Formats: sequence, structure tokens, C-alpha cells
Amino acid sequence: MNDQFQPLSTPASSPDPAPASASEQPDPAACRARAEIDLDAVRSNVRTLRACAPRAELMAVVKADGYGHGAVPCARAAREAGATWLGTATPQEALALRAAGDRGRLLSWLWTPGGPWREAIEAGIDVSASGLWALEEIVAAARQAGRTARVHLKADTGLGRSGSQPADWPGLVAAARAAEAEGAVDVTGVWSHFACADEPGHPANAAQLEVFREALAVAERAGLDPEVRHHANSPATLTLPESHFDLVRPGVSLYGLSPSPEVGVAAELGLRPAMTLKAALALVKDVPAGHGVSYGFSYRTPGPTTLGLVPLGYADGVPRHASNTAPVLAAGKWRTIAGRVAMDQFVVDLGGDAASAGDEVVLFGPGDRGEPTAEDWARAAGTISYEIVTRVSARVSRTYTNVRASTRGL
Ligand SMILES: *Cc1c(COP(=O)(O)O)cnc(C)c1O
Repeated sequence: MNDQFQPLSTPASSPDPAPASASEQPDPAACRARAEIDLDAVRSNVRTLRACAPRAELMAVVKADGYGHGAVPCARAAREAGATWLGTATPQEALALRAAGDRGRLLSWLWTPGGPWREAIEAGIDVSASGLWALEEIVAAARQAGRTARVHLKADTGLGRSGSQPADWPGLVAAARAAEAEGAVDVTGVWSHFACADEPGHPANAAQLEVFREALAVAERAGLDPEVRHHANSPATLTLPESHFDLVRPGVSLYGLSPSPEVGVAAELGLRPAMTLKAALALVKDVPAGHGVSYGFSYRTPGPTTLGLVPLGYADGVPRHASNTAPVLAAGKWRTIAGRVAMDQFVVDLGGDAASAGDEVVLFGPGDRGEPTAEDWARAAGTISYEIVTRVSARVSRTYTNVRASTRGL
């Protein structure tokens, strides 16, 4: 049992926790469509990534509801497989993990002025500062809380998003050192983020590491002694050992997806996709040749055929750009979506093959039962697999397989 992720006491009046698996308690919403998440795949991916970075700790990035897979169950599975840190973008995401019982190290990095610094500090969440305004708010919140805030200083080593520019870095470091001296903060991390790690060999990767080493040297000369120095996302964890430092921060690869075709194919990287998105056919019917299908008739039946109605649409996260391009496994074969993806549904042309309402259609999964993968969908819809899984909306119920008995009930 993992003592980093104990449920807090549950009020007697609270509703029953979500069912541990689909088979235990059928959820009527899951009959229409569901995303099945294999938590053993998440554990296995964590182990694969730890083996890639054997001298570093692993922070499981579970922002955006665990890239659509469910932050709490995936965080628990990652902890079970040895993730000593969790990472979230927003403080609300981090506080939700605490409310669900997680007590391990946890970093939240996407802050805006007036954010819930005090709540985060009181919940023992490590926070990030990219500039002086953030450090000042952290110091004020720490004084109010009567606690020392654990802070990661973020350097912009070239990405041009958050992080302190090299010209501003000595000032941020000096202010943080002064705040340490008064006991308001403890600088536990110095960190940054890659722009082009998904293109191994891109010259920006080495250049960013050079800037990072200089930022670390400036911090050390100012008297800071961070516990963890970190720069690596999934592609860098998989391909760039010199970027591992003390901690790696994989996200998409935890869920079994390759960060890019250049980094490799998931299976060859030892990654197993955790999500399978399925639906039940809502209707199967014969139609004559030349029948228009869905809004705008961008598909017309080439001959007499059978259409299957899939009850998932863009409100469920199926990209409208997948119209007439993305594959699904239906009635034993890959079928390309016929016509436009609508808000709640799309159609597949079953070409006269036998099927009936209620039959399962698989949009994507690990790919080992003949179904397409999220990467196939990304290619078809002109996006990245990150977006395909993350956009699966709350209307689609998540069910979990391989939930550990000792950690059920969250
Ligand atoms: C999202 C994110 C990660 C994880 O990136 P992946 O490419 O999904 O591994 C790591 N660090 C930061 C700062 C992020 O925003």
C-alpha cells in the first residue's frame, strides 16, 4: 500500500465512491460510450520511464485531468509504480489531488496574481515562481500561514513561455535567497521546460541545457541549494539523458503515447496506451445508393449500404476535423467516418456487413486488438495524440481496469 496516497477521512454522508471497475456496477452513461483506462498500462509506463532515467526521480504530470484519463486514479497508479512527485499546471488541480488524499510531493506551476498561494502552502504543495511578482505573493502568503513555502524557481532557457529570462534571473535568485534567509521560503527546485525535445537532435535542445547550466551556476553562487533540478518532459526523458538532472517530468508517455513520430512508436519505446474509447452503435439501418450522410452531405453512399450511427460527437471530444478522415473499428473492420462529425454523433458506412444496434465500436485504443490508436486519430485530424486524449470530455464516463484493491475508493 502506498502511504503517499491515503484517502482523507470520508464524511459519513458522502456518496459512495465511483465504482472501481466497469464490471462491478454498470453505469448507464457508460453504455452509450466510455473511455476505459487500464491502470496497469500507466504503472508499466512509469516503470519504463524510470528505467530510462535511473538516477532521477519521476514526477508524474497529471494536469488536465491526467491528459483526460482521470487525474486521481492515474496519480495513484503512478505513485504505486514509484513516482515520487506529481505535477499539475493549475493550483486547483493540485488542491484536488490533496482533497483526494494524496500527501506526497506535488508541484503546481501555472499561477496568476491572486492565486490560492496560502491554500497551496498549507497543503504542502510546492509552488513555482517565474518572476518577482510571484515570489512576493508567495512570501506574503507564507508569512500569513506561518509556514515556509517550498518554491521552484523557473528559468526561461529558450521556450519563451513562462520562466525568468537570463537577464532577470540574478534578481529573482537574489530575492529568493533573501526570502530563504528570513524563513519565508525554501528553494526546493530550479527548473525549466524544453521547446523542441520532440525533435531529437534539434539544436535548441543542447542550447537550452547550456542556458540551464548557467542558471544553476548563478543560483549556486547566490547560495541556493535546490533539492531538485529538472528540465525533462517525455521526449527528453526518452531520448536525452543529459537533461535528466535530479527529476524527470513525463506527461503524455505515462499514458502510453509517444510524444512524436520522431521520438518513436509507442510500442517500440516500451509504452502501452492506457485509454480505449468505445461506443455502442445507436442505430443500424439500410439505405439506398446516393443517400447523403450528416450535415452538408459531405458523404454520399456509393451504393445500397448499411449505416451505423455512433453516439459520440464533438461535444464528447471527437474532433470535427476527423470528418471523413478518422478510422474506427466497427463490425470487424476499420471504417472511415462517413460525413461530418456532429455535436453528439457521427456515422460509419458498414458496407452491408452484418451489425446491430448495441454493437461495440472502438474509436482508438492500444491497437493490439485491431483498433486504431490515438496516434492514428491525430494523423487523420491534423493534430497530436496529446490533444486526442485530453479533449475527451466529461460527458464520456471513465471506467478503470486493474484498480488495486488496496487503493480503491477514490
Ligand atoms: C505538460 C508539461 C510536462 C509534460 O510534458 P509531456 O510532453 O506530456 O511529457 C512537463 N513539464 C511541464 C512544465 C509541462 O507543462
